[in-house]
Amino acid sequence: MQIRTKIAIQFTIIIACILIIFSLAVYYTSENFRKKEFYNRLHDRGLLTAQLLKELKITEKDKRKLRDANKSILGKLNVEKVLMFNDKDELVYASYEADSIYYNPSFLKRVRQQEYVETSDWDNQATGALYTDENNKSYVVIAQATDIYGKEKLQNIRDTLITSFVIGITLTIILGIIFAGQSLKPIAEINEEITNITAYNLKQKLNVGNNKDEIAQLANNFNRMLERLETSFELQKSFVSNASHELRTPLAALKSEIQIALENERTTDEYKNVLKSLLTDTQRLIQLTNGLLQLAKSENRENSMALKPTRIDEILFKAQEEIMSLNADYKITVDFDEIPDDDEWVTVNGNEALLLTVFTNLLDNACKYSMDHEAEVKIRFNEKQCIVAVKDNGIGIPESELSKIFEPFYRTHNASGYRGHGIGLSVCRRIIDIHQGKIEVQSQIGKGSVFEVTVPHL
Ligand code: ADP
Repeated sequence: MQIRTKIAIQFTIIIACILIIFSLAVYYTSENFRKKEFYNRLHDRGLLTAQLLKELKITEKDKRKLRDANKSILGKLNVEKVLMFNDKDELVYASYEADSIYYNPSFLKRVRQQEYVETSDWDNQATGALYTDENNKSYVVIAQATDIYGKEKLQNIRDTLITSFVIGITLTIILGIIFAGQSLKPIAEINEEITNITAYNLKQKLNVGNNKDEIAQLANNFNRMLERLETSFELQKSFVSNASHELRTPLAALKSEIQIALENERTTDEYKNVLKSLLTDTQRLIQLTNGLLQLAKSENRENSMALKPTRIDEILFKAQEEIMSLNADYKITVDFDEIPDDDEWVTVNGNEALLLTVFTNLLDNACKYSMDHEAEVKIRFNEKQCIVAVKDNGIGIPESELSKIFEPFYRTHNASGYRGHGIGLSVCRRIIDIHQGKIEVQSQIGKGSVFEVTVPHL
């Protein structure tokens, strides 16, 4: 069911309940008022009859006169009957002529006890009153009639209320649908706009209308989500094109090496040399693919989230060993600025494999980009963080490029003569992000660079 219809129905149900309660209240108040008024009239009429009977001497002729007067004066009450009983419960007067007159003795008894009694059935209302004349003789006067006019009026009120209810509900349904439709119109528009947005036109944005209400907030949030999606799509696109470019170059080199080798007959030694060169190139390719894999893995948060207390100094010694075992001419020293009193100061909540990737990258870069192939690592800490500084005396990084070196595939201009693909630092930054830390660099062209990694310790 559409929200519009739902709102209209809910709205109509509420209004219907209010109208029903209101109509019932009006109807029952009117009915009570009518009944009370009619009882009063019946009572007055009974008393009037008794008064007249007292003043006239009760002869049959007078009674007839009174009957006629009753008919003409009070006839409006319709089907009226006035009966008068003496203290022996004998009927002394009846406002109508009939072969036999029925009355209820227990009712007479109640009137004598209570002096005034009102009673009613479906059609009729009756009052019974005790009347005492100056000779102290008591009479029971019973007046009974059907309030035809009163009931007609009530019927009228009921019809008016039912008609008003039907008109009111019809109007509510129509207005409910119109208003709900109008209030939900912006959502319908947003819906339509969203259907037109695909991966190819993420630049398209939703109309935020008055920029104030909840729907505008929704549109704004959606637009922000589109921006994020666009950025991540762009990143992915550039990653794929950069990665394929990086892979194509060494693959093309491999291909041409093989082609040249196959052009002429070669000696066994020459073939061996070609194969050795191919092996080196393949190793570089493997390195590159590993780098790409690390980058992809570091983007996948869940894979990298196995964090546990890990000693930073131990990881640094491992990285030092790893790099130095692969490159005999590299020299790396790892030192504490001051020895920690508490092991926790150098223990971080981290993933050992990922942190090892960070430090091997930094140490490898430091040695790779310096003539002396030397790197110096210093570990320090404060109340909250553990800080690792990797320093080299290498080629340095141009100031204008300092902010770009953490982007995937970015290489500085002065690094073109050195092996590498510009992947390592972007992987490092992502991993340090996962560890809620930061990585910063300070550098001077021709003098060297210092990379500083700060991670919160336990
Ligand atoms: P790679 O070293 O494989 O090119 P990285 O992502 O590790 O890729 O580094 C990105 C770029 O940052 C490098 O190409 C280089 O230009 C620069 N760079 C990184 N570390 C250093 C360093 N210690 N000294 C000078 N330049 C560096």
